[in-house]
Amino acid sequence: MPFLSGLDLSAMFNVEDIRKDFPILYRKVNGKPLVYFDNAATSQTPKQVIDVIVDYYSNYNANIHRGVHTLSQEATDLYEQSRKKIQTHFNAKFLHEIIFTSGTTHSINLVANGFTSLLKKGDEIIVSALEHHSNIVPWQMLCERTGATLKVIPMNLEGELEIEAYNNLLSKNTKLVFVNHVSNALGTVNPIEHIIDEAHKVGAAVLIDGAQSCPHIKPDVQALDADFYVTSAHKVCGPTGVGMLYGKESWLKKLPPYQGGGEMIAEVTFEKTTYADLPHKFEAGTPNICGGIAFGAALDYMNAIGFDTIAAYENELLEYGTAQLLAIEGLKIYGTSKHKTSVISFNLEGIHPYDVGTILDKLGIAVRTGHHCAQPIMDFYKIPGTIRASFSFYNTKAEIDALVEGVKKAKMMLS
Ligand SMILES: *Cc1c(COP(=O)(O)O)cnc(C)c1O
Repeated sequence: MPFLSGLDLSAMFNVEDIRKDFPILYRKVNGKPLVYFDNAATSQTPKQVIDVIVDYYSNYNANIHRGVHTLSQEATDLYEQSRKKIQTHFNAKFLHEIIFTSGTTHSINLVANGFTSLLKKGDEIIVSALEHHSNIVPWQMLCERTGATLKVIPMNLEGELEIEAYNNLLSKNTKLVFVNHVSNALGTVNPIEHIIDEAHKVGAAVLIDGAQSCPHIKPDVQALDADFYVTSAHKVCGPTGVGMLYGKESWLKKLPPYQGGGEMIAEVTFEKTTYADLPHKFEAGTPNICGGIAFGAALDYMNAIGFDTIAAYENELLEYGTAQLLAIEGLKIYGTSKHKTSVISFNLEGIHPYDVGTILDKLGIAVRTGHHCAQPIMDFYKIPGTIRASFSFYNTKAEIDALVEGVKKAKMMLS
């Protein structure tokens, strides 16, 4: 991950000040101060974003894009300004390349559905062994609809993709490649620059699932030359139920609309309907207006701290947490790539991850246990699941100490 060597973090970043922005971090769970280490599932929301949500419903709530009245115009302006913020954040060339969706899953399904008419028997789709279920199932369904075949880039024990094998999978039959930027189960940062370049050599389009990278990395979709890049607001301090699809203009023009309804049409008669221009062609119905506005506010919040600062601090947490946890005998970490975000997936020898998670919860510590919507990865390691602690920039080393103590206690109680 991007890391500024020699960066004086203490001068730029005071975690105690940052924590004051997050009201939820002050609540207790089971009588203990909350230690929130489930950031890879959803991030917490700062008061700056909560304020935007309250302000929207207190002052601007109206349907957008259709009313001549003042409220509707103000709500439309806020929503479109947010689209602009997202465009700037991801460095998309055109504003209309940013499509609001309900999240990563919706974005992926929109693209998968769109490719139904573009694929035929004999075509191939490549996905990676490190995918979230939301990035596997839609492609299996697309293959069923079109007769295309799904190929899988294998992984190694470190939790990295086998890039040689990927290069060998590519052929003139490859039409699509789908890879996550960062694995949610293991935190591995995948070499997507290489993956995209090689796919383009055979004329395949590439969709990058950025749900897990966007909390830590600021992607530049033009520099990456990604054909599609998708993410969810709730992983970057925004609300649930809203996200985005970035698509290159040429691809978005080629894909048919996903859903029919209001907003996405130019003209409707019973004989024929013509579709609206981008981005509205893909935005049928009343969207999550407040969520879209709050998404922009969440990116503002994170950019004000700065992604280099965030990445450097989280890397400190990752190194500290890895060392502290590995000092526990019988503890094994899954996903040991040099290129990782602040996610630690681990197990205690002979103990079910669920039992450890339950004891940690009694201590106020929120971790994820299970297969993390990535069952093929667990099958690869021949384990039922892991305990996953995922750190954000508002977490502290003291919280990691609490986790380590909790894991030791769980080990004592369960072995
Ligand atoms: C969270 C996540 C998703 C799913 O996001 P939704 O907001 O539930 O649609 C997909 N891929 C990855 C890598 C994720 O981390």
